[in-house]
Amino acid sequence: MPLRDGRLSHDIDPSDRAPQDACGVFGVWVPAEQAARAEVSKLTYYGLYALQHRGQESAGIAVSDGSRIVVFKDMGLVAQVFDESVLNTLRGHIAVGHCRYSTTGSPTWENAQPTFRSTDDGGLALVHNGNLINTPELAARLDPGELTATTDTEVLTALLAARGEGGALEAAREILPATRGAFSLVFMDEGTLYAARDPEGIRPLVLGALEDRGWVVASETAALDIVGARFVREIEPGELIACDGQGVRSERFAEARPKGCLFEYVYLARPDTTIAGRSVQATRVEVGRRLAREHPVEADMVIPTPESGTPAAIGYAEASGIPYGQGLVKNSYVGRTFIQPSQTIRQLGIRLKLNPLREAIEGKRLVVVDDSIVRGNTQRAIVSMLRDAGAAEVHVRISSPPVSWPCFYGIDFATRAELIAGNLSVEEIRDSIGADSLGYISLDELISASHIAKDNLCRACFDGQYPIPVEQDARGKHLLEATR
Ligand code: SF4
Repeated sequence: MPLRDGRLSHDIDPSDRAPQDACGVFGVWVPAEQAARAEVSKLTYYGLYALQHRGQESAGIAVSDGSRIVVFKDMGLVAQVFDESVLNTLRGHIAVGHCRYSTTGSPTWENAQPTFRSTDDGGLALVHNGNLINTPELAARLDPGELTATTDTEVLTALLAARGEGGALEAAREILPATRGAFSLVFMDEGTLYAARDPEGIRPLVLGALEDRGWVVASETAALDIVGARFVREIEPGELIACDGQGVRSERFAEARPKGCLFEYVYLARPDTTIAGRSVQATRVEVGRRLAREHPVEADMVIPTPESGTPAAIGYAEASGIPYGQGLVKNSYVGRTFIQPSQTIRQLGIRLKLNPLREAIEGKRLVVVDDSIVRGNTQRAIVSMLRDAGAAEVHVRISSPPVSWPCFYGIDFATRAELIAGNLSVEEIRDSIGADSLGYISLDELISASHIAKDNLCRACFDGQYPIPVEQDARGKHLLEATR
């Protein structure tokens, strides 16, 4: 399906997309008497704005005024979906919001979030980051024909809304222990905001406090900063919280078995976000230092692939003593819909995004630092572009280990067959991208730079050891569509 005009893309080469994150989630509760002043829909809008990097296909906000939930969602970026007049109609004191990249189901309006279900006594709206791996098993608890969308999130919403007298909280206590896979959830009924995180805590979720009584839940701490909320703590793996007039109540629905996503440090999270008390930017710079020690090379200048390679390039330059410089200029304003170049002019497609600074690189031996290699097309084009611009040598350094395995927990990589490291050795990849040398950070050094114990991290895309076993038949993005 063609993507709409005006939607920006991180991707330098559309045929070699960077890993796509699952989604950004946000929720806010303020006392009802503060609803007019707090403007929860606008807080949510700004929270989603801060989380836009986690999903660019659709955006939505649901608001409750205590007696009724209203949902507004559409395809596109947060700033395209909402304007002042729409936000002014979303009045209330509780809100949940979402920006989506589809990791199950197609990028359609029906699959956009928040998902909503009416109940006997009201409604339930839910947003989800992550991927479930037992969706068919959960869907079997519902009557056939009960689903209108094709996502794991729709299944969860239907199950949580099928509540008895105990309401959403009681339904969550029953359903969440039976739910497997990655889920950072924020949901609400008319009076209460809830948040829950899977027992492995694969995708992030944090709790913040507003200055004047009120609570915020968000995928990343950067979203708390932007709405002026104070970071309180991470939602624990296996924890369910409820926020309302009685304060924040916490309970466990499962024992914590922490396996946080290592790739959040490499690429997914914003650099100004903090995970487990450590800034993502600091970790990325440290990875660059370690990369320099593991893969030193004689060179004249270290340049990043902008902007994803920038922090690690800074670290590499610092540890190696090789000057840091800018050798590639990125145009961030190219929409996804630029005319797809044919094979013969693919180089032009990349030129729309990146252009070399000829004077800065001519005759120089370059170290080019990037965060990861997916299919290799982007790095091959960059190496060739730098050589054409007069670089004497091009040494590629990557601040993650080879990505050899797909992710089933909410990040859309290529399939194993499409991942260049799933099929070729490092030397073969070097040859394929045309670099003079190629070095990846080792898995041990990346883990050590994160300051988190190896056993508490998911690193499956690097080592193939999936912390939550995934059956072969639960591995498709379009699983529910296929079973229809
Ligand atoms: S497989 Fe990779 S991207 Fe997916 S959760 Fe694990 S570490 Fe993160």
